Amino acid sequence: MSYLCGKYVFMETSIQEQIQLLRQRLEQANRAYYVDNAPTMSDYEFDLLLKQLEELERAHPEYRSATSPTAHVGSDLGRNKAFARVKHLVPMYSLRNSYNEADVMQWYGTLPARTEVVSELKFDGLSVELVYEKGVLTHALTRGDGAEGDDVISNIRTIPTVPQVLTGDVPEQMLVRGEVLMPWDVFNHLNEEREEAGLLLFANPRNAASGTLKMQDSQEVKRRGLICQLYQLYVLDGNENDQRFGMTHSERISHLREWGFPVSDYSRLCHSAQEVFEYLSLWNDKRHSLPFATDGVVLKVNDLNAQEQLGFTAKYPLWAIAYKFTAEQQSTTLRDIVYQVGRTGVVTPVAILDPVQLSGTNVMRATLNNEDFIRQLGIHIGDQVWVEKGGEIIPKIIGKVDDETTNQSESTAYVFPRYCPECGTALVRNGDEAAWRCPNESGCPPQIQGRIIHFVSRKAMNIEGLGDETIALLWKEGLVHSPADLYDLKKSDLSRLERLGDKSAHNIISQIERSKQVPWERVLFAIGIRMVGETTAKKIARVFRSIDSLQWATCEQLQAVDDVGEQIAQNIIAFFGEMKNLEELTRLKAAGLRMESDEERTMLSDILQGQSIVISGVFRHHSRDEYKALIEAHGGKNSGSISKKTSFLLTGDNMGPEKRKKAETLGIKMMTEEEFRKLIQED
Ligand code: AMP
Ligand code: ZN
Repeated sequence: MSYLCGKYVFMETSIQEQIQLLRQRLEQANRAYYVDNAPTMSDYEFDLLLKQLEELERAHPEYRSATSPTAHVGSDLGRNKAFARVKHLVPMYSLRNSYNEADVMQWYGTLPARTEVVSELKFDGLSVELVYEKGVLTHALTRGDGAEGDDVISNIRTIPTVPQVLTGDVPEQMLVRGEVLMPWDVFNHLNEEREEAGLLLFANPRNAASGTLKMQDSQEVKRRGLICQLYQLYVLDGNENDQRFGMTHSERISHLREWGFPVSDYSRLCHSAQEVFEYLSLWNDKRHSLPFATDGVVLKVNDLNAQEQLGFTAKYPLWAIAYKFTAEQQSTTLRDIVYQVGRTGVVTPVAILDPVQLSGTNVMRATLNNEDFIRQLGIHIGDQVWVEKGGEIIPKIIGKVDDETTNQSESTAYVFPRYCPECGTALVRNGDEAAWRCPNESGCPPQIQGRIIHFVSRKAMNIEGLGDETIALLWKEGLVHSPADLYDLKKSDLSRLERLGDKSAHNIISQIERSKQVPWERVLFAIGIRMVGETTAKKIARVFRSIDSLQWATCEQLQAVDDVGEQIAQNIIAFFGEMKNLEELTRLKAAGLRMESDEERTMLSDILQGQSIVISGVFRHHSRDEYKALIEAHGGKNSGSISKKTSFLLTGDNMGPEKRKKAETLGIKMMTEEEFRKLIQED
């Protein structure tokens, strides 16, 4: 089977075999998309295949099957039952997809005259169903296979805008459906972190959201900052009550809004096909300015009775249709693969392409992620590949165009280089990491220069005048090997260099001097501990107010900081475990950099002297970080987990059930926010 001009071409294959092949491909693709969160084909390609299968099944009803991908929704239920499976009270359907206005027009034509249609954005995340009983959130289910889903309520609770308890006049029992999303900035930040850690990158925010929602560790889910948009309400109270909450889709959405649910501000009630098409063309462009990903528009019949009359197929409602924006993808030739070495030594394969226009820019390079990704796609130099530029910063290769034109060398498996392209050191790949790394931290030029570039960058030490090229020059001249060397530079060192005049030499020196005033939290970011980004550094610096206290912190103490999980804690400990880092820090300190917080810590009392305190839950009077600071200001110590040594637990709302159980078993005292405030005489 090969893919040509938007259709799969079969040669000498029976209809039955064609159907079989298409079903197989679609099932594989469904699994990759919904369960593994690593799609193997574009949505567009998937829908083409599906359409082809539908046509074959229609022409040959003898081969129809209830298990065909045309008859059921793609399932997100994995093999391991990590979450409780709960039946949907109302089955969750998919939506019929269309890619052109003709299809939309055709659907519109099937509706009775003067039917009102609500046009909404199609959010590109994963669907979730919130179940409320008497106004209390009791389940949060994924679509699953449409009939039952995974209950991911503990993860949904980390989304602050999802109401847990509703007050006022609400249905006895109701279902609120919507989409869980990862905003672009969160997504880009997460991928940067993952790149630094040598982890596999998420292909798009949808996969990232879906991978995140299926994680076991709710703390990590919370850190990742998912958001939610709700777009449907079912009232299950029986007829009479049903009417009370409106009999149109738009009224129901207004109720959701009143009750405090995050609902879309971008929907529009349309009264004609013209209005619908205006909406489509408006959002085709405007969607790029939204903070989250959308992949189309959903059109829904507004009147609920009319919806009921139109009904469903096995897979889709007939009262709605999705219009998908054509993704910005182009095919082009893969000319070469080059290898880039980052500041942490990760070697990233980069595709060199015949230039193509994508969303207004000329694309010549695109990321290929890592060795496994290239293997999975089965691409070779010379192949036609699809390249896509979403809202992500870097364009990416998403697949191979066509089996027919494939390079003849297909049989030879792709091999990743074994040696660093920059310094020749043998590369290493740790068991569960996707990335190859150059271990020659102290001798590999892009790693050394990368660390210095990071150190002087705007959000770190903000040393202006030291561009990448100047840093490369300083390194080549043997003047700067590490950030600390910057502080030994003299004006004469610089002014004798080609390209640097007296004036810029003077400027650079005074910029370097000025950087000694940069606060501790940014110094902490600048020294480049793996996965300690700008925000994490800030949070750490608020709790560990000097480099000395950070250096001696235990894994447990580190994890008491919001945002710091086990991985980051271990990175910090490993960083301080290395002699060359300690030497570097000593030199930076001697140069006069700020290695402690300037606000003098005012000790308020010693009432908590010798006590080890664990905080859990959400508080009213102060943030968690403020309570942590208060504990220290009263002489106490913060700890991340409960042990026999814990003096007491400071408990807020929604405290984790695990923590509560542990505290109870160990007989640890629990103190409410009010009791604590009395204790420190704040109240
Ligand atoms: P598909 O993933 O192609 O089967 O499209 C159906 C999915 O679109 C639903 O399961 C929802 O998760 C999602 N969707 C996104 N935005 C909306 C919306 N405004 N209304 C209904 N479904 C939506
Ligand atoms: Zn190297």
